[in-house]
Amino acid sequence: MNQWYPTSPPAEEKRPVAYAAPRGAASATAISSAAEPAHPNTSQEPCACGGKGYVFGEDGYCPCAAGAARQTEEQSWVVERIWGEARIPAELAERRIAGWPGDAAVRDYLLTWVSAWQGNHGPSLVLTGRARSGKTGLVLGLAYALVEQVVAERTPRFSLRFVTAYDLMAALSTWQGREERFRQYLECDLLILDDLGREPAWDSNVANLTRVVMHRYNHQLPLMITSNLSFGEIEARFGRDGDAVTGRLREMARGFVVEGFGELSGEAKAKANRL
Ligand SMILES: [Zn+2]
Repeated sequence: MNQWYPTSPPAEEKRPVAYAAPRGAASATAISSAAEPAHPNTSQEPCACGGKGYVFGEDGYCPCAAGAARQTEEQSWVVERIWGEARIPAELAERRIAGWPGDAAVRDYLLTWVSAWQGNHGPSLVLTGRARSGKTGLVLGLAYALVEQVVAERTPRFSLRFVTAYDLMAALSTWQGREERFRQYLECDLLILDDLGREPAWDSNVANLTRVVMHRYNHQLPLMITSNLSFGEIEARFGRDGDAVTGRLREMARGFVVEGFGELSGEAKAKANRL
């Protein structure tokens, strides 16, 4: 169908694991001593890993139950590390796609955005629509599902940043260390730019946001964008660069553009407001 919609190769053909064990982490010690998995070979011949789940000097996990348990434990640790480094506000960090109260058809369509990713490359996603319609929670739920997928695929490196357009512009208003701060948002593998259009419409902000979109387009680094503005209003906001900016966003999103988002049912909306 769409050529960018990948079919995942079997797990054993993928790269060996590149994540280190959480050495010295108190939680890892606690987990392994509290819930040591039953080893499948205890009643037969002993496994080469001795129940540890991996064999030193070999790539990857032991193909026994202890190896599977070790892999699950270490992957969830990596997911939490990536998520923890994304600077998501605490009140939003628990959003998961499974708990999203909106239309299941919309959710299922947007989950194809997650599966369209391969490793740390994939399409952008743009959600525009009215305020308080649950856009940010949905985007974060999808982002978390993506991080889980990226880690399960053993992608060697993945960096995620969340920032509101307002806070990004505020962060760039101080000159000291500005370029270094800016680079984190220009160069992370996935940038969640929340609430585009809430920032003051100053020329400097327009120029900085144009730079974000153009840099990420040129380096094939995707964005997730939410905005209360329509595409037409975004285009107008970017002035003479408006056409170029919205054109590149559409190109990067490869169809994952949801305009007029926010048609949640009354019951779903009530649930969303309680979250
Ligand atoms: Zn083993």
